[in-house]
Amino acid sequence: MKYKHIFFDLDRTLWDFEKSAEETFLEMYEVNGLKKKGVNSFEEFRTVYKKHNDQLWAQYRKGEIEKEVLSVQRFVLTLAEFGINDMDLSKKLGNEYITLSPLKTNLFPYTHEILQYLQEKYELHLITNGFEEVQQVKVDASDLRKYFKNLITSEEAGHKKPDARIFQYAFDKASTNASESIMIGDDLKVDILGAKAIGMDQIYVNFTNYEHCQVITHEVDSLEKIKEIL
Ligand SMILES: [Mg+2]
Repeated sequence: MKYKHIFFDLDRTLWDFEKSAEETFLEMYEVNGLKKKGVNSFEEFRTVYKKHNDQLWAQYRKGEIEKEVLSVQRFVLTLAEFGINDMDLSKKLGNEYITLSPLKTNLFPYTHEILQYLQEKYELHLITNGFEEVQQVKVDASDLRKYFKNLITSEEAGHKKPDARIFQYAFDKASTNASESIMIGDDLKVDILGAKAIGMDQIYVNFTNYEHCQVITHEVDSLEKIKEIL
């Protein structure tokens, strides 16, 4: 067997980030009476938030802003688009989101099945760019902890995917190297090209059948199909 270690991404690969965010946003929208405050619909709130969050995450990934800024600023900018300038409310929403969303347990189909199957043949680890405290809660709430030897977060490693240093950190922690490891993730640039750059094989979990022209090791559109490869 070529591989000994499998490194998984968490968000949008195993844990259904969008569905969990959707549920959390609906709760936050209702609990905080955002309709009365001028946010016409929950869908609009979510769409505007997503735009700002994506932009801020790109900055956070590059190390341009701190996570505390990201957490609050995404709500400051979202509310501002609805004419609401309320720092206390932005902070409250920032805290609620980080507290409530990781308790959601939406996983993609076959998550438990594939992890059970792989666990018997390989050593499994997680490498995630998410916040340390948030990712730890998710892994416990969704009953995923039992499958993984290591949960490596970018905060702990001091670098974020696709930086080669987080992969190297993960190899050191798992006492392995690129040639006996494989990375499985949903983000072409961050997980897959990041792993490729350090010489590790990859399985691109392309749920949306995103078209690209990158040369990668393997590609699947469901977690179940990983069984055909590993
Ligand atoms: Mg991901």
